[in-house]
Amino acid sequence: MPFDQAQLLEQIAQIQQRIDQAVQRSQRDPASVRLIAVTKSHPMLRVNAVLAAGIHDVGENRVQEAEEKIALQTPAALAETRWHLIGHLQRNKARRAAKLFSLIHSIDSLKLAEILNRIVDEEAAVIPQPLPILLQVNVSGERSKDGFALAGGLRNPAWREFVAEVRAIAQLPLIDLQGFMTIAPYSDDVAGVVRPCFRALRDVRDALEQELDRHLPELSMGMSGDFEVAIEEGSTFVRVGTALFGAR
Ligand SMILES: *Cc1c(COP(=O)(O)O)cnc(C)c1O
Repeated sequence: MPFDQAQLLEQIAQIQQRIDQAVQRSQRDPASVRLIAVTKSHPMLRVNAVLAAGIHDVGENRVQEAEEKIALQTPAALAETRWHLIGHLQRNKARRAAKLFSLIHSIDSLKLAEILNRIVDEEAAVIPQPLPILLQVNVSGERSKDGFALAGGLRNPAWREFVAEVRAIAQLPLIDLQGFMTIAPYSDDVAGVVRPCFRALRDVRDALEQELDRHLPELSMGMSGDFEVAIEEGSTFVRVGTALFGAR
């Protein structure tokens, strides 16, 4: 649907206000929550509109699509844009992804992290070291979701194995593990389904900070339908598409 800049500014202001209110309700620092505008399937025109509106965090779920959009940016615009990869990353696209994105939210195996670590070593001239990443965790148990399979979070029987894998990833010298990402089920049941999912990821993070004795500050959780709940549960990155741009 067509959408002009004035409308976009209004949508952004509304989302920002809802973010601020959720931040206040949960007595958090406003600077600790950042809005990522999810521009997948939207043309570069719309990415430029978002940037002009002062949002510099942009999310894409496919490497190819991001690459095409990034190629259209001027060096000055590119320097001001943080591109986030929020979709599944295939191993054969890891090299391109490492060169394009400021933060990859979707690392889902030790193997993929090891591959990235090697790539960062090989591409020292063009990829910053260490490379920031988040681990995607499927705490809901939905079969359609990517990520480390850890339904129920801490209570999952595979918890110790997961801890061992995260420890190994955290020890990779050229990777900077900053936290975790999840996608909640699409559900009206906030109290029974959505909130417990976000809470489970936060509990996973808190437990791993203890286990690894290091700070893991970032929690990427919350989309158009559930970002306020996610903020109440500790989200530091909300990934919003539909609520900004309308349906894809
Ligand atoms: C598409 C997408 C979003 C944004 O979803 P909306 O419901 O449009 O806000 C967020 N996160 C991921 C991983 C996505 O693929």
